[in-house]
Amino acid sequence: MMHSECSKCGQPAVYLRRHTSEFLCKSCMVKTTEERVRRTINRHKMLQDDDRILVGVSGGKDSATLLHVLARIEADFPEAQIVPVTIDEGIEGYRDKGLTAAHQLASSLGLELQVRSFKDLFGRTLDDIVRTRPVGSIGACSFCGVLRRRALNSAALELGADVVATGHNMDDEAQTILMNMIRGDSHRIARTNRPRDPPIKGLVPRVKPLTELTTRDTVAYAYHMELPYHDIPCPYAGEALRNDLRTFLNDMEYKRPGTLLAILRSGETIAEILDRGSVTKEVRACEKCGEPTSSRLCKVCALLEEIGAW
Ligand code: SF4
Ligand SMILES: [Zn+2]
Ligand SMILES: [Zn+2]
Repeated sequence: MMHSECSKCGQPAVYLRRHTSEFLCKSCMVKTTEERVRRTINRHKMLQDDDRILVGVSGGKDSATLLHVLARIEADFPEAQIVPVTIDEGIEGYRDKGLTAAHQLASSLGLELQVRSFKDLFGRTLDDIVRTRPVGSIGACSFCGVLRRRALNSAALELGADVVATGHNMDDEAQTILMNMIRGDSHRIARTNRPRDPPIKGLVPRVKPLTELTTRDTVAYAYHMELPYHDIPCPYAGEALRNDLRTFLNDMEYKRPGTLLAILRSGETIAEILDRGSVTKEVRACEKCGEPTSSRLCKVCALLEEIGAW
């Protein structure tokens, strides 16, 4: 138990937000968390008042926080609509638990959860893909990420959403920025927390309203608001490099609070500079499936071709 007083109101504190050195009581923690998300959305012009927002919900704490906070924020915008969607990748013993939590959360907010599965969209589950992928093929998470992005975009088109919101937080973003640097893929940093992209035909813009909240912040919010979420690790355990960076960054953030935010801001600066100099890539139709892409085949078709699915 924490024996400190809330820096804002003097009530007993339940949470220390390290990077701002604030001790917070439950009510101030909730209020400041919601304010931060509101600020992130405004700062990057992520949402419009009359948006139909598809919210990707995994059943974990980040997307639970995202859905809950957005439902509260959007209550002030009667023309906005929220459509929670879970992508069922088909990971036995893992995604099913997440789905139960996602259903509970959506119905507690009076929303109906939509579920789309890899099996229906691509004819196979992630478990199938992992079992049958050729030796030396890319990791489970790379398949999972590319296919999930496509699945969310198809759901958004089908459900008439204007924008897709996902629950990536500051830790995720800082890891991604460093991963891209370590792999020498710095141009990818252009996708860091940024203004909502103008729509490209066939591609619904994506936004990440939680990028100014750390994992600790979302855990505190989900825990104290008693949101239903599951917290078991994926059996494919995530990418090794990301896991290493998570450990390294946790350690750094503990020693020097503010490290994550500094990396996020560096990523934003790099993204702005890259944006200014960028020539918009030509968008064409994938030769296999017709989805927008900058190459002959879209990423999904290239991956499915690699595992011999076509
Ligand atoms: S850890 Fe990897 S395989 Fe598991 S759900 Fe996340 S991205 Fe998919
Ligand atoms: Zn307080
Ligand atoms: Zn394709």
